[in-house]
Amino acid sequence: MHHFNYKNNELHCEQVPVSRIADEVGTPVYIYSRETLERHFRIFQEPFLGVEHLICFSMKACSNLTVLRIFSDLGGGVDIVSGGELFRALKAGVEPSRIVYSGVGKKAAEIDEALAADILLFNVESEEELFLLNGRALAQGKRARIALRVNPDVDPLTHPYISTGLKKNKFGIDVERSLHLYREAAQMDGIEPVGVDCHIGSQLTELSPFLDAVSRLKELIRRLRGMDIQIRYLDIGGGLGIPYEDEQPPPPAEYGAAVLEAVSDLHVTLILEPGRVLVGNAGVLVTRVLFRKPGPNKEFVIVDAAMNDLIRPSLYKAHHAVWRVSRGNGGAALKRRIIADVVGPICETGDYLAQARNMDEVVPGDLLALMSAGAYGFSMSSNYNSRPRAAEVLVDGDRFYVIRKRETYEDLVRGEEIPAAVLRP
Ligand SMILES: *Cc1c(COP(=O)(O)O)cnc(C)c1O
Repeated sequence: MHHFNYKNNELHCEQVPVSRIADEVGTPVYIYSRETLERHFRIFQEPFLGVEHLICFSMKACSNLTVLRIFSDLGGGVDIVSGGELFRALKAGVEPSRIVYSGVGKKAAEIDEALAADILLFNVESEEELFLLNGRALAQGKRARIALRVNPDVDPLTHPYISTGLKKNKFGIDVERSLHLYREAAQMDGIEPVGVDCHIGSQLTELSPFLDAVSRLKELIRRLRGMDIQIRYLDIGGGLGIPYEDEQPPPPAEYGAAVLEAVSDLHVTLILEPGRVLVGNAGVLVTRVLFRKPGPNKEFVIVDAAMNDLIRPSLYKAHHAVWRVSRGNGGAALKRRIIADVVGPICETGDYLAQARNMDEVVPGDLLALMSAGAYGFSMSSNYNSRPRAAEVLVDGDRFYVIRKRETYEDLVRGEEIPAAVLRP
C-alpha cells in the first residue's frame, strides 16, 4: 500500500502531480511519500505495541536525513553499519540510546565514535572485533553493551547476494562458538553482554526462516541465562520482503504476530531492524525518455536514469514496475504496446532498469516512474560515468520539498587535486 496513484491519468504522489516535480526539479529524481513512510512505520510497529520493543530502521536502505528524522519522530531508532551512518543518524537527531551498530568490519575509529556517542548496542560479529571493542571501551573508561550476532544457519530462501544467515556467509558467529565467546565477553571489563542478535537475509517472502532463527536464538538465550549471563535484548534483524512483482511476502501484521508469539515467554526488549519494508514502496525513481531505438526482437527505450542511480536490476536482476507518469494519449492515435528494454546512458551492457518489458509505447520527453525504488535505490547510487547523483524529494500532502539537491559537476571533483609534482614543467 502506497500513495502513488493516478488522478485523471496523471501519476500523483499524495496530492502532487509527479510531472510537476520532474519539471521543477529535473530528472532523474527520487520521490518519497511522507504519508507512506509513516504509514509503513505504524503498520510495522502495531503488533509490538504491547511489549518492550525498539524499531531500528536499517538506514542503509535509505539514509537521507529527512527520512531518518521522520522515523525518529515516530519513536524509531536506527541500525547503522558504518561511522558515516552514525554521523548521519546523529545529524538527523536520532537518540544515541536508540542506535544499534551492526557490520562485520568495524574500524577502531568507528568504534571510538560510537562509544563516545554512547549508543545502545554493538552487534559484534567476530572474536577479534570483541577484543578490539573491549580495548577501545577500556581506553574511554566505558563498558560497551553488546550482542553477538549469531549465524543461525537457516536458509532465508532469497537471492544469494542478500542471504546472510547461512554457515557459508561471512556474517555472524556460529551458535556453539558464540557460547564460548559470551563466556569470554562476560569476563571483559570493557564489555557488557546484554543481547543476542541475528539477521538472516533480505527480501524474505516466507515466515518460516524467521521463526526457525528465533527458535535457535531462544534456545541460546536459555543457555546463556543458565550461565548467568543476563540477556535483556533480542535483536532479530530485518529482512521482511515487499511485493515488487508477484511475490507475496507475509504482511507486517502477520510477521509481527508470529514473532511475538515465538518470543512471548522470554522477557526481553525486542529489537527489529526493518529496512526495505519501511521505505521500499514509499519511493519511486522518475526518469525522462531520451530516445527510442528499434532492435530486431525488441526495442530500447533510452532514459536519463541509469544503473548508477538504481543498481538493483543490474546487481540482482531485480524487477521494478515501470509506470508511465502520464497515461493519457494526448489525443494522439491509440498507443501501441511495445516490448522494450529500458536502459540508461552508461557504457555497460549491464546498464538496464527493466528488460523485455511489455509496456505502453513511449516517446522522447515522456516521464517514467520506476516503482518501489525507495529501498537500496538512492543509497546504493554512485557517480559512475561522472554522473551527478539524482535529487531526492519528499512529498507531504500537497507540497513537496527537495531533501537532497541534485549534485553538481563541482561535487564530482570535490577533494580531487592534481599534485604540482605531477605537472610537466
Ligand atoms: C541490511 C540489514 C538489515 C535490513 O534488511 P532489510 O531487508 O532491508 O529489512 C537489517 N539488519 C542488518 C544487520 C542488515 O545488514
